[in-house]
Amino acid sequence: MTYNANEKGYYGQFGGAFIPEMLYPNTEELRQNYIQIMEEPSFKKEFHALLKDYVGRPTPLYFANRLSDKYKTKIYLKREDLCHTGAHKVNNTIGQILMAKRLGKTRIIAETGAGQHGVATATVCALMGIDCVVYMGEIDIARQAPNVARMKMLGAEVRPALSGSRTLKDATNEAIRDWINNPVDTHYIIGSVVGPHPYPDMVARFQSVISEEIQSQLLEKEGTPNPDYLIACVGGGSNAAGTYYHYLDNMDVGIIAVEAAGKGIHSGESAATSALGKVGIIHGSKTLLMQTQDGQITEPYSISAGLDYPGVGPMHAHLYTSGRGEFISVTDDEAMTAGLLVSQLEGIIPAIETSHAFAIFDHRKFKPDDILVINLSGRGDKDLQTYIDYFKL
Ligand SMILES: *Cc1c(COP(=O)(O)O)cnc(C)c1O
Repeated sequence: MTYNANEKGYYGQFGGAFIPEMLYPNTEELRQNYIQIMEEPSFKKEFHALLKDYVGRPTPLYFANRLSDKYKTKIYLKREDLCHTGAHKVNNTIGQILMAKRLGKTRIIAETGAGQHGVATATVCALMGIDCVVYMGEIDIARQAPNVARMKMLGAEVRPALSGSRTLKDATNEAIRDWINNPVDTHYIIGSVVGPHPYPDMVARFQSVISEEIQSQLLEKEGTPNPDYLIACVGGGSNAAGTYYHYLDNMDVGIIAVEAAGKGIHSGESAATSALGKVGIIHGSKTLLMQTQDGQITEPYSISAGLDYPGVGPMHAHLYTSGRGEFISVTDDEAMTAGLLVSQLEGIIPAIETSHAFAIFDHRKFKPDDILVINLSGRGDKDLQTYIDYFKL
């Protein structure tokens, strides 16, 4: 039994590539080449040099003293918030822009909801001097003005998606249409462990630098590479996949995934995909997703823009249904309270996505000698206005 993808991109029954015939040449070119390219010594060298000097890796593994005291267990924080651009997303976009270059691509497209993945993509396109078009729903463009400005400043073109609900799924449709029309020169950078094979596996491999570092850092600090539990928030699932990757088949290590319950799992306003989802196809992949009786995708809700996704990557659907992972849903209120607590106990303001992971202690007890690693996926600067409004600061 392995919890990794097989050659066809399946994690148990989930994954695969459910794509229109016209997209087949694009994903096929990537599928045939991605592992070989990632394993080339020159690729590895360039990837790791940029992670070190541009992103600022390795990110620290920090023992959170006061948080550990409060919850009477040993809590380490993996500081992805200290990556350039303020979150883990750049690990993946650096990897994919290097992949695009190796495949001879001269143009990048991406879709974005809250704008975080758009910014991470625009950043690496500026770094490499490659043309970048980011599709974004018209409604999201209005809601996320600072990230739109960042993308423009970085030289990207932000193209509004004007159809449907004018949000993320419509931007995704536009990006796919663009890719079908430009199969030769364009690479589509997907921002999480979602989409058709090979994207979930490729993105997980790029993000796996997180668990690779945890292993050696924990060995140095605790004399063992294995924590008792790894904890991460899950939107599409890329920061979680990176945190779990080197431990997936190591049953000594517990895996905990935290999803957004919004205003409550059964409130009709949530993004608790594992609790509410049924098997279906989204974004070219078979996975768990929130849908109506007749299979229409339900509009998700969370106070955190990065967890506001109706599906979950196929790796996580498999971790959930197989029982390998423990899935817990946390409400907006629990997350916001946890975010404030971490700010005041550790002097670190987390992204609201990450605050969901910190709310685990409202749901779960740990033993005094348990070693926990919580992935601190991003910093909270981007969320300051939401924190201000919520706490009336
Ligand atoms: C985008 C984002 C997430 C959610 O995306 P995943 O693919 O599930 O990791 C989580 N945390 C932060 C800080 C983000 O920006």
